[in-house]
Amino acid sequence: MNEYEKQKHLRIKKILTIVGAFLLALGLVLDVVFFVDFAGSMGVMSFGQPEFFWLSFISFPMTAIGGALLLIAKRGAITAYVMRENAPIVNEYSERIRPAVKNFTSAAAEGISESGGAVVCAQCGEVCSGGARFCTVCGAELFKICGNCGEKNAAKDKFCRACGEKLGN
Ligand SMILES: [Zn+2]
Ligand SMILES: [Zn+2]
Repeated sequence: MNEYEKQKHLRIKKILTIVGAFLLALGLVLDVVFFVDFAGSMGVMSFGQPEFFWLSFISFPMTAIGGALLLIAKRGAITAYVMRENAPIVNEYSERIRPAVKNFTSAAAEGISESGGAVVCAQCGEVCSGGARFCTVCGAELFKICGNCGEKNAAKDKFCRACGEKLGN
């Protein structure tokens, strides 16, 4: 939507809001007049025949149309509100699933990967917590600590990636 269309949209929305509010307010006033008149004619304080019975033919549709116009005008705002409300949920969801997805993709390339506090088992693909040394599903070693420099290496590595020391089994 370009700037011109946006302005046009806003103007239409404004007109709808004003006309809708006007019709709704007028409709409600006429509704009240009708109900008071109708109730009065039925009740103890009899005013005789309801004079304003015809009002209901105008006031009811007027109230409905006014309400509908307001709803249409506000629909953009409602949609934006709903979108904004749902955005944190979507973000949180992707925030949770991302480390696992990331681990799976890099695990395919490297055999093992560690990111976002999770480690993927090179043997069975289980996502284990970052602190785990062994896979909780198949028992495979998740990484090797270099005996020389203490670097964490992938379980399949033969030599330390930091110092080149031969890694044991
Ligand atoms: Zn495993
Ligand atoms: Zn090392």
